[in-house]
Amino acid sequence: MDGTARTPAQMIDDGLYFGRLENLEVDLRIDAGLCGIVSADIFSMESGKRQFIASLRTASDVWFDGSIGRGAITAEFPDGPDWGEIELLRAKPNRRHLVCILRFARHVAQPASPSGALAFEVSYQGTALRRLAIQIDAEQDQEPQAVFASSDEPSVASVYAGAGIEIIQARPGAAIVPPKNRRWSEKDLPRLMERYGGAPMREPDFRIQVLWLSESNRRGLLGVMFDTEDAYPRQGLAIFAGAIRGIEPQDAPPETLRQRLVHTTVHEIGHALNLAHRFEPEVAKIDSLSCMNYDWTYAGGGCAAAYWDRCRFTFDPDELDFLRHGPWRAVAPGGEPFHSVPYWAAPAPDDEMTAPAEDAGLALRLLPPGSPLLTFAQPVTLGIELHNVGSSEIVVPHYALDQKGGLLSVAISRIPRGRSIEPGLPAEIFAPIVRRCYRRAADPTAQISLRPGQARMDNINITFGVAGFPFAEPGDYMITARLTLPDPNRGAIACQAAPVKIRIARPHSAGEEAEGLVMLEREVGHFLAGFGSHTTHAKLRELLIRRTKRSKAADDGVAAHLARSLMFDAVRRDQQEVRGLALKVAKSINLFDPCTRRATDTFIKKLA
Ligand SMILES: [Zn+2]
Repeated sequence: MDGTARTPAQMIDDGLYFGRLENLEVDLRIDAGLCGIVSADIFSMESGKRQFIASLRTASDVWFDGSIGRGAITAEFPDGPDWGEIELLRAKPNRRHLVCILRFARHVAQPASPSGALAFEVSYQGTALRRLAIQIDAEQDQEPQAVFASSDEPSVASVYAGAGIEIIQARPGAAIVPPKNRRWSEKDLPRLMERYGGAPMREPDFRIQVLWLSESNRRGLLGVMFDTEDAYPRQGLAIFAGAIRGIEPQDAPPETLRQRLVHTTVHEIGHALNLAHRFEPEVAKIDSLSCMNYDWTYAGGGCAAAYWDRCRFTFDPDELDFLRHGPWRAVAPGGEPFHSVPYWAAPAPDDEMTAPAEDAGLALRLLPPGSPLLTFAQPVTLGIELHNVGSSEIVVPHYALDQKGGLLSVAISRIPRGRSIEPGLPAEIFAPIVRRCYRRAADPTAQISLRPGQARMDNINITFGVAGFPFAEPGDYMITARLTLPDPNRGAIACQAAPVKIRIARPHSAGEEAEGLVMLEREVGHFLAGFGSHTTHAKLRELLIRRTKRSKAADDGVAAHLARSLMFDAVRRDQQEVRGLALKVAKSINLFDPCTRRATDTFIKKLA
């Protein structure tokens, strides 16, 4: 392992090796050919189920050359990092049986030898380093098979085989009946996953569920990934196959259409395995030909044709290292939260993407709620406005202001008591529970064109995200937003909104506090984020009635938001209920931010 020349008899075959030691199991990955890494995941078997214990890999400054011997390792245990040594020995006179001896500096996993070492006898399983089980549930008349497993390459299976991951298709899914207008709302998807999914996915595992649907009711939306702790954290995806086909010209060859579907599916599964977009400022690889880039963001935009010419349907080296050898919890769907593991190589200091050019022609502004003093547990929505303050027309993707689309990021800071808005406060980037992957369609109606002086407004809901309720504690908060757009000349341009401050009041009575605590339950969070369930609906109706009895005033932000969320939830069920709630919402409309206020007002006027 130390790099001196070896005879063939001292070489080990690349691939996955499996071994047992009493109740421990190890998956050992030998990868001299592509990454120069040996890595392993260790589990204990508890009543027939694997429990994760630790992940390890050879040290990042050493290239593993495929020979037997010893090497330094770094390891990750649930209680923190560790380091140590791996020793690989030949067990039998063939290349496919090994003894793998592991020693850790801080941890002693039982049953270790008296010297603290774990000695596994392992045998070769195959070339795939990891396995991912996929259950596909397809809408009627949609045929995903040619995309997943196909005699034509690339297919989802062939792309992931190249990344060392074997795709195992779980039982064939049901034929999902499409909605009447054939366009799915995102709100329908959790229900579909629940209905067609197999066993509920509550624990990290290399297992995902894919809904293969025709079209969404959002323009240009190709795929979504759910990222919430309670259900489907990086475990549930939807692919809108009809939308993907619809982007291509009518006379596009069938093979091109098939390849576009493969690309989006590989991309969405990449998110489930915790891969980020290549064009994001933190990753800053706009020239990447990886499936995790978009064609329209490639090289700053305007180079989609070149992207498809050059795309080889694979991943970048840092992504391959991560998929093949990343710590088990970091990669496994349901493990570490999306975007929380910075596997990407830091951008070079002279990389112009490190600091996207601030664009003087665009101004971004956050529009706070009607009153900056919010009731305890009041949902938080803000308006966001993009203004062309330059002298020429600017065209941006239609979803630029969609907080789930990846171009807009919102940061939240707690303001310590007695202080005010100031630079340098620790900030958390708000992570929404759904990620949407769009394509910038050539269709001009799918773009926002802003003439000088024109502005575009949208609203953002930051009540509940992957990390829970960011505003659960009374106190002062600072909110900022940043928009990053690909730019063919400068790689990327960015604009930053000036911070706004809001204050969350303390509860004024035991009753108000109890109601607030209901508002801060996770299932209520899902409801307020737009994913209501029937049981939550009933519970919140009751809460609204109680709340309205207590405070008749029109300045109760909790009641106002509850009524509004319930109103929109009832739209597809009960028009009378919608009207009743609309009366309540109208009374306190001034509590909302200007964008939410305008949209809600328009909705209510249409009812009349
Ligand atoms: Zn994406």
